[in-house]
Amino acid sequence: DYGAAPEAAGDALAWITDQGARFGCFIDGAFAAPGETFETKSPATGEVLAEITQATQADVDAAVNAARRAQGKWARLGGKGRARYLYALARLLQKHARLLAVLETMDNGKPIREARDIDVPLAQRHFYHHAGMAQLMDAELPGREALGVCGQIIPWNFPLLMLAWKVAPALAMGNTVVLKPAEWTSLTALCFADLCRQAGLPKGVVNIVTGDGAVGEMIVASDVDKIAFTGSTEVGRKIRAATAGRGIPLTLELGGKSPYIVFEDADIDSAVEGLVDAIWFNGGQVCCAGSRLLVQEGISEAFHTKLRARMDKLRIGNPLDKSIDVGAIVDPEQKNRIAALVDASDGVIHRAACAVPDGCYYPPTLITGLSTASPLMQEEVFGPVLVSTTFRTPAEAAEVANNTRYGLAASVWSENINTALDVAPKLAAGVVWVNGTNMFDAAAPFGGVRESGFGREGGWEGLQAYTKPVAKPKALKPVAA
Ligand code: NAD
Repeated sequence: DYGAAPEAAGDALAWITDQGARFGCFIDGAFAAPGETFETKSPATGEVLAEITQATQADVDAAVNAARRAQGKWARLGGKGRARYLYALARLLQKHARLLAVLETMDNGKPIREARDIDVPLAQRHFYHHAGMAQLMDAELPGREALGVCGQIIPWNFPLLMLAWKVAPALAMGNTVVLKPAEWTSLTALCFADLCRQAGLPKGVVNIVTGDGAVGEMIVASDVDKIAFTGSTEVGRKIRAATAGRGIPLTLELGGKSPYIVFEDADIDSAVEGLVDAIWFNGGQVCCAGSRLLVQEGISEAFHTKLRARMDKLRIGNPLDKSIDVGAIVDPEQKNRIAALVDASDGVIHRAACAVPDGCYYPPTLITGLSTASPLMQEEVFGPVLVSTTFRTPAEAAEVANNTRYGLAASVWSENINTALDVAPKLAAGVVWVNGTNMFDAAAPFGGVRESGFGREGGWEGLQAYTKPVAKPKALKPVAA
């Protein structure tokens, strides 16, 4: 039952049916015949959407070989030549924006408003930006060249957007790619493969292999020149260990437990609204979610009262309904993980008042009264669960904020710019937002410190991460007698 948006679901289902509803990997410019497959389901309805291939070692080898064969010519095309393809892909993402948004929502469970207004437009923007950068590249990145073939492994929370973050800069700089989407959410990556065909992208430049972590391991073990990974710290650690002996470049974008710090002089209504975005955007399944609220003591009661009232107005339900704020959790396994973490906590739990539909849904939840050392204060939940504590002074705010193993993002709320600019540099975080949250742009680098990973995606740093210095042997001068 797609309630409010039946025709939109119909279009996406029609696209799946047109493709045969059984997907092989996309290798060397074509979809291979499906092999052994697994089902991908809509978390909102439980309905099977399609069968996806569990790639084999032979598929991964074929993909890496195709990428290798294509790479030299792709690099020699030059920035301007590659830009034409990147612009074509950007335009196709725009043309098929509605299909991609609906597919994403059906496959992942995120509200259609988010897929439509955030995921898909940001993915387009990423391709437009990197098309522009490819055009400029010859002049702007002198003395650098493509790495070669890049292995790219992405998570399920922003399937199309994470693909764009990986594929656009790699292609712009003259690399070819073998990308693996997460097993729960492969559909928009496969739709993107279809768009690569429509754009006439030379075969082998983009290869998409599907399947679970075992396929990721095969990519990591294969003869690629770089691994770019976004996912959990646990898997990031394994990838780092697996590649340690090979010295290939690695970019790891990992988990977080980002602090959201509200000072007494903050604009409270804006800070509450910002917090809704920080923790309930995409049901909290966001690496940089503001999942730890730190409120200055003097306003703690007033702030929490407003926050609870706002939470109670959130609407949870069918993610294809445009009026919905919080959609479904990506998979029952993830929902059970969230529930287990919350059930084990000894804090005071407030759940949003809205009725929660049966199935793969978890209500927006606020937990207070936890010690800063408790698991829920330290561990990433990756769900709609906010934990909260208080602080007295700016120094204490920074100390509590930094009391975690992560360092991805932070938000600071104060009407006094001196307070904000005093605290921001003291926070161990790859990005600090002042009086805001979740601001991303293709031109701004994003990434973490500590166990949130290393390397940057986006901006100049992101481009550089897909290049290496041109290896030119120094001319030998005769030694003067
Ligand atoms: P995950 O680490 O379980 O999986 C991520 C990807 O890695 C998937 O494609 C998976 O199939 C693959 N994988 C699993 N085991 C592997 C292995 N041994 N070798 C190679 N690949 C393997 O993460 P997830 O549950 O899909 O995503 C949630 C996590 O991603 C969260 O921790 C979140 O914070 C993080 N994340 C980080 C960012 C960021 O930019 N820092 C962005 C989004 C998500």
